[in-house]
Amino acid sequence: MQELIQKGTLGGFKGDSKIFSGEVSVDMAFKANEWRDFSGGLVRFSPKARSAWHTHPKGQTLLVLEGAIITGTETGQVQVAKKGDVISCPPNLKHWHGALDDEAGMHLALTSEIDGKNVTWLKKVSDKEYNKALIRAKNQN
Ligand code: MN
Repeated sequence: MQELIQKGTLGGFKGDSKIFSGEVSVDMAFKANEWRDFSGGLVRFSPKARSAWHTHPKGQTLLVLEGAIITGTETGQVQVAKKGDVISCPPNLKHWHGALDDEAGMHLALTSEIDGKNVTWLKKVSDKEYNKALIRAKNQN
């Protein structure tokens, strides 16, 4: 049998927290199960909002559904993905993702799991780190 998972039935959360800065809403779209080794989550970032630094043990694929998403890595790479673009993040690369300062963004996060674990959260992205990434992104255009 196929399963229909209706929007909003798996829960979510909003707001500033230990793992997000600014106005963010997270809605779980689907979970991993016995045949699917990844989950899907819809994450909406208001301007200036972003995740904390983190890593994924089995990688992550982000599909931008609205607006733009900026992402930075510990190696200094900064990229801006627009609606329809995909960010492909390999396992164990320290990174963050969020909105630009003047535009909201939403992505579907497809996050692979190992033994039920799909993320390790680290420090929050400081305003200084975020602003530096924005400048770098704008200079690339
Ligand atoms: Mn990530």
